[in-house]
Amino acid sequence: MHYLSTRGDATPRAFCDILLEGLAPDGGLYLPERYPQIDAAELARLRAVHASQGYAALAFEILSLYIADIPAADLRAICEKTYTADVFGTPEMVPLKPLEPGLFLLGLSNGPTLAFKDMAMQLLGHLFEYELARRGEQLNILGATSGDTGSAAEYAMRGKQGIRVFMTSPHGRMSPFQQAQMFSLQDENIHNIAIEGVFDDCQDIVKAVSNDLAFKARYKIGTVNSINWARLLAQVVYYFAGYFQATSDRVQATSGPSPQPSPQRGEGEKRVSFTVPSGNFGNVCAGHVARMMGLPIAHLVVATNENDVLDEFFRTGIYRVRAAADTLETSSPSMDISKASNFERFVFDLLGRDAAATRALFAEQLPRQGFFDLSRDTRFPGAAARYGFQSGRSTHADRLATIRDLHQRCAVTIDTHTADGVKVAREHREGGVPMIVLETALPIKFADTITEALGHPPERPAKFAGIEDLPKRVTVLSADVAQVKALIAAQTKI
Ligand SMILES: *Cc1c(COP(=O)(O)O)cnc(C)c1O
Repeated sequence: MHYLSTRGDATPRAFCDILLEGLAPDGGLYLPERYPQIDAAELARLRAVHASQGYAALAFEILSLYIADIPAADLRAICEKTYTADVFGTPEMVPLKPLEPGLFLLGLSNGPTLAFKDMAMQLLGHLFEYELARRGEQLNILGATSGDTGSAAEYAMRGKQGIRVFMTSPHGRMSPFQQAQMFSLQDENIHNIAIEGVFDDCQDIVKAVSNDLAFKARYKIGTVNSINWARLLAQVVYYFAGYFQATSDRVQATSGPSPQPSPQRGEGEKRVSFTVPSGNFGNVCAGHVARMMGLPIAHLVVATNENDVLDEFFRTGIYRVRAAADTLETSSPSMDISKASNFERFVFDLLGRDAAATRALFAEQLPRQGFFDLSRDTRFPGAAARYGFQSGRSTHADRLATIRDLHQRCAVTIDTHTADGVKVAREHREGGVPMIVLETALPIKFADTITEALGHPPERPAKFAGIEDLPKRVTVLSADVAQVKALIAAQTKI
């Protein structure tokens, strides 16, 4: 299996060549040259593997379709080290919870930082350590975070050989819980840098350091952002695990209204839909990949908050990015994006993998005019049907109402992002097709809004009791690229 760029660079690259890279050299995103196809017999085999050997074995089966340059025994060991009940809290890794007949929550947020990003980032930590050891290289991961991504990266990379993490965050602007999660890590290879400024200042510093090519090469600077193909691939696995759970004979019995009773449906004929709370289009893009592989997904429903760039596209065919200043601060902050960094991958497929057309949209039209319009492109109408996409948006009031409703009727407390998903999912229910909402974080991460909705804070998992009181390990710097570079240089022995 080789990888190509959405903008046309077709230099053959293997998985490990792109593992440690961000964008392709031509500015595009990497995708596999083709999607391996899963037919009904293979789907039945994967179901049996999942049922008898669990999530790690399923992960190995899916990943090995895309990774030819890691020996099978090593890849299997990496999957088994990554997906353990110890790290992810349950033997299922991603338990499926029924909410009401035919509506389910897929629990992706039981990892170390209580958000779905752990599912991929934990794998990335083990893959990076493996590949760096094989090459005898080191890596300095430099990032900017306003919360979820930074903590997921730190918990994945802590204690890993050959890796250091330098994570910038806006000083005093993360929630006390998020600060405590990151700053309480005492591992020597984790460096928290609180920047006296806002999140954009942190991002500007990361960009400035990455643009200094001499510094970048000398100090082996890398990133772990959501465009990384390995992160996306890791997420494909839980769409299969969610499908198998929702269509198991045991669950089918309780999945509510069925248009016609059809007890003996064969493998591959049972379909499910997923609703995915979306910002950068990373999570739902993994669903698109699963569907392209042949997983029987009826619809992929993109749920946005008030920052509805993606909902606008799926409704109108117009993709209009927002300026940072026009991006609203909402109570589902991890979806407050102005530009969906993984979206180019889907558009490439939508346009029949036409790299020249993709490049024209993303490298020319978008920078020049701030939007592109596919509404009259013959390839757009019907795209929703062909690729299964639907969309909807949710507001602060919707979040509060949904959190309250599920708390009262199902005794389940969900986080604000997941609430956006549930709200939109309910608008897209179809009889006989189970709807699975991806749970992207646990409510404790966004306690203020939960308190606003319910009048009391959410339950806190025992392992996080009192973390705000632990000693903190953080360096405060002014928003100055030179100071950040000096800190990286001082910590790197070369
Ligand atoms: C990152 C994140 C999202 C958005 O995921 P994308 O892959 O960027 O679409 C949604 N909810 C939570 C809690 C997140 O941390």
